Amino acid sequence: MPIKVGASGKLNILRAESLEGIPWLVHGFSTRVGGFSKLYGGNALNLGFTKGDWRADVERNREAFLKAVGAMRREQQWPLVTLRQVHSDLIQRVSGVAQHPVGDGLVTNTPGVLLAVQTADCLPVVLVDTKRRALGVFHAGWRGTIKRIVEKGVGEMRRWFESQPEDIRAAIGPGIHKCCYEVGEEVRSKFESQFAYAADLFHEIKEADPIRDKYPLLFLSARPPGHSELPLKLFLDLVEANRRQLLAVGVPAKSIGASDLCTSCRRDILFSYRAEHGNTGRLLGVAGIRG
Ligand SMILES: [Zn+2]
Repeated sequence: MPIKVGASGKLNILRAESLEGIPWLVHGFSTRVGGFSKLYGGNALNLGFTKGDWRADVERNREAFLKAVGAMRREQQWPLVTLRQVHSDLIQRVSGVAQHPVGDGLVTNTPGVLLAVQTADCLPVVLVDTKRRALGVFHAGWRGTIKRIVEKGVGEMRRWFESQPEDIRAAIGPGIHKCCYEVGEEVRSKFESQFAYAADLFHEIKEADPIRDKYPLLFLSARPPGHSELPLKLFLDLVEANRRQLLAVGVPAKSIGASDLCTSCRRDILFSYRAEHGNTGRLLGVAGIRG
């Protein structure tokens, strides 16, 4: 996914290379740049109705984003369908204008509606069936990933639209990456109970400890046998976890693309819930079908 956010500070949209060349598809992933919110550093494109932000500013941001992404028909904006996201595996089928349903996935084959998931570290995932003109958007944090939200998304597209996995193209948008996504040991055990490949999704880093480094002898004698010398930090690769789910249900590897942008590393252009201690805006990952 090429980075097109320049120094201009203008609203810009990230597009997935894996979804290029589909003439009827409208899609994009937002950044934090070029909006009307006064919070979160100012001129922020906050697209979620967060506690602190003004509703009117968010609505203005959404309007600008929809226009920029191309979800328009004769000066009229497409209805935007968002979810009340609950870290579940609930997937809703949209066949008209849905009113903010509960769940973490939306699928449709109806033209002229823009499906959206809101994120700020969790992964936004877009699936597109190029043959049957159907698509889905999904919100995948670690909880949704354990519940196989994306794997089930392919299943729902098969059920509703007779989608074949080999016709599906996938884009995993910006989210928190393995460089920054520290998790607890309990998260690893949960993945281990669900996925045979769980070991491939985690890596450990020894925490630097200047006092231990300076006075190693102090700790040598005090250390109980069998314990590691330094505390370990554990990191999860959520992108790989979701890529593996898509591969497992038969989506071809060449059809899966992932953004190389980590929300936590790139707070200059993206929102990160963790890195900004919850005081941040929301990004949108969107997709729709031109009529
Ligand atoms: Zn990072």
